[in-house]
Amino acid sequence: MRTVADFSCTGKKVLVRVDFNVPLSSDFHVTDDTRIREALPTIRKILADQGAVILMSHLGRPKNGYEEKFSLKHVVPVLASALRTDVHFADDCVGGEASAKATTLKPNQILLLENLRFHSEESAGDESFAKQLAALGEVYINDAFGSAHRAHASTAVIAKFFQPERRMFGLLMAKEVENAHRVLHESKKPMTLVLGGAKVSDKIKLIRSFIPLADNIIIGGGMAFTFIKAQGGEIGNSLFEEALVNEALEVLRLAVDSNTQIHLPTDAIVAERLDADAKTKTVNANAIPSGWMGLDIGLKSAKALRKVIRGSKTIVWNGPMGVFEIKPFREGTVVIAKAIARATSKGAFSLAGGGDSVAVLNQLKLKDKMSYVSTGGGAMLAMLEGRELPGILAIGRS
Ligand code: AMP
Repeated sequence: MRTVADFSCTGKKVLVRVDFNVPLSSDFHVTDDTRIREALPTIRKILADQGAVILMSHLGRPKNGYEEKFSLKHVVPVLASALRTDVHFADDCVGGEASAKATTLKPNQILLLENLRFHSEESAGDESFAKQLAALGEVYINDAFGSAHRAHASTAVIAKFFQPERRMFGLLMAKEVENAHRVLHESKKPMTLVLGGAKVSDKIKLIRSFIPLADNIIIGGGMAFTFIKAQGGEIGNSLFEEALVNEALEVLRLAVDSNTQIHLPTDAIVAERLDADAKTKTVNANAIPSGWMGLDIGLKSAKALRKVIRGSKTIVWNGPMGVFEIKPFREGTVVIAKAIARATSKGAFSLAGGGDSVAVLNQLKLKDKMSYVSTGGGAMLAMLEGRELPGILAIGRS
């Protein structure tokens, strides 16, 4: 992979697509600066070379032009304090102000452009918009792994406006790709994929592609109930994706054929309402009374899954085991996170990804106990599915 590490940015205007899609509080403070911190090595490399840095990103999903709550100006103080330097800001990512500020930007200075998605052309992958962005810099770096699975103007289309030697990957992007590669091509066995969260539809492709690779696939969270019901279980009001029943059954058959163990919860913590004060009880996961819903894996399941994890040498984790945001339904996810941390301390390689898994790791202060925590949810899933990501293909294309 051609990265900024192999390129001298001295005297160049370097346009960097970063992923500053950070959460903001209601009074517009950055509540988790992980994505900003992860972009710093690339920015520092350019500054160390005496290059000028022009940063572009999206933030959230604005519908129709400018919205205060999606403005990247809220990121400026956080970035400036992390880098201990001034950060200039352009109120629009294209147009007169952006191009004037880019033109006068000096080596060692930083300019952050306003949210790309205030222009619908960004998500549409519009060529002339990409060309306007490209005109701001002499070199293009893509360091936005979290957006690499999207063929947007700034993540993919833009690359063609730079000669192959003037477009490259950032250091974060390189790290993400290396770690995914390690799981897919150099993993030690036994390998365990741990999946949770709400939607089977988001993760069924990943399950399919891991059946030949993994020894164990743990399916927890709301998504487990579609599998349990497909096997004839009673799931009450638990999450259920009827359209995926046949595919769930097919996946279970494929796993048997390739000797991959699929582990579903055998017990569940259930409640009649999704509420911290709701009455809860533990029942068999395939015998949930009507009117009740499964909101976490039970203790018996957590202990059994912990054993599988502790016996693994490679662990990939995406998605919570239950509604971890609400205290009574949090414990299953905590047990799993701790088990992955423990296995890692004993030499296993662990890769965690997805906003919820990362939030749990942060809450439990276990992030440093993973071998690698990805900044990308959807992008990491796509990469592990073996899909070619538009943001990566575009740089590689000559
Ligand atoms: P996803 O985006 O598909 O990874 O889903 C994450 C969300 O799934 C989290 O907000 C969890 O609260 C939710 N979740 C996990 N388990 C369950 C469950 N058993 N029932 C309902 N929601 C769940």
